[in-house]
Amino acid sequence: MSIAHAKLGPSGAHRWMLCPGSVGLIAQLPVGDESSAFAVEGTTAHALAEMALANDKDADTYRGVRFSEELFKVDDEMVDYVQMYLDYVRALGGTRFTEIRVDLSQWVPDSFGTADNVVFTDDGVMHVIDLKYGKGVPVHAENNPQGMCYALGALAEYDFLFDIETVRIVIHQPRLDSVSEWDISREDLLSWAETELAPAAAAAQSEDAPVVPGDKQCRFCEAKPICRALAERNMSLASQDFEVVGAPVTPVELPNLSNEEIAAILPQLDLLTKWATAVQGHAKGLLELGEEVPGYKLVEGRSQRKWIDEEAAGKALARKLGAKEAYTKKVITITKAEKLLGKDSRIMADHTEKPEGKPTVAPVRDKRPAIVIDVTSDFDDLDVAVAA
Ligand code: SF4
Repeated sequence: MSIAHAKLGPSGAHRWMLCPGSVGLIAQLPVGDESSAFAVEGTTAHALAEMALANDKDADTYRGVRFSEELFKVDDEMVDYVQMYLDYVRALGGTRFTEIRVDLSQWVPDSFGTADNVVFTDDGVMHVIDLKYGKGVPVHAENNPQGMCYALGALAEYDFLFDIETVRIVIHQPRLDSVSEWDISREDLLSWAETELAPAAAAAQSEDAPVVPGDKQCRFCEAKPICRALAERNMSLASQDFEVVGAPVTPVELPNLSNEEIAAILPQLDLLTKWATAVQGHAKGLLELGEEVPGYKLVEGRSQRKWIDEEAAGKALARKLGAKEAYTKKVITITKAEKLLGKDSRIMADHTEKPEGKPTVAPVRDKRPAIVIDVTSDFDDLDVAVAA
């Protein structure tokens, strides 16, 4: 399944505004039609939300429905999460436009996109709401170029119909339980378009558009595996001498990494690992196309046994072992129970808890409070992971 995207579209604005050369590099990638499972899942969630809003139904109405051959069936989890989004959108009231095509060509040549929901409320606010169904990283609304582009396109379309003073960008990530909202005045948004967006678009279209690596722009850039600028940056990072801040390291022959050096490495790891994965994926793609990657070949990976026909296997097992042994029962999800019983249900209060999350390494600027460690306690149980 392929979805039309403008070369300088809103979804890539965070990239091409910082790395104008990325547009040309991405154009050199082989054209594929391989939507990832995550992308198909996201498109399914959007189709569900659109259908439910258009027909004034809850997500539950479409449980088990497959909207088209290319999409997944709507499963229980999706019903629960998309309902959270529907509840948010409906609670705004006002006048709503769903899945509208926005045209940015006033500022960015040939640029367009689709805004999930634009809602105009009586207080002069235009709400531009973006559903992100992924559960990877939280995305913040503040200064988010994609949301700002959708808002500009919506302004271009509806400014003459409504009295808009404030634009509220909303990024709704139900699977991360995150709703990020940010307000910008109509004037400031238009000024951003003239002073930042339009010049960046012009730079991205120039023949000598610079390729500028950086954490924000490279993270999701499709050109990662062929980008020399990123490869050189990463290879030099991997071999650099770390600048030690604070007390000098004891001058022994092979000193261990100091805490300061580890702190210097941590921020680089996310992009380094993403880049490594992208290069591996690209190599696999080349081999699948029959191209030679010296020293490498395709082999069959590991696989797990599975039932050929789960229903038939269940029946056969039940005949042999009895139904009790052959089947397992699972309790419904907390989200589903809460929907059925309501938030104030006694059962929910008595039978749910929120266990402490495992300790995770995060930068000091992270909003979560630091865990206070008792150095006299036993550390054996700690399982430390690096926050994305
Ligand atoms: S990988 Fe990074 S540096 Fe290379 S084109 Fe993409 S955004 Fe630019």
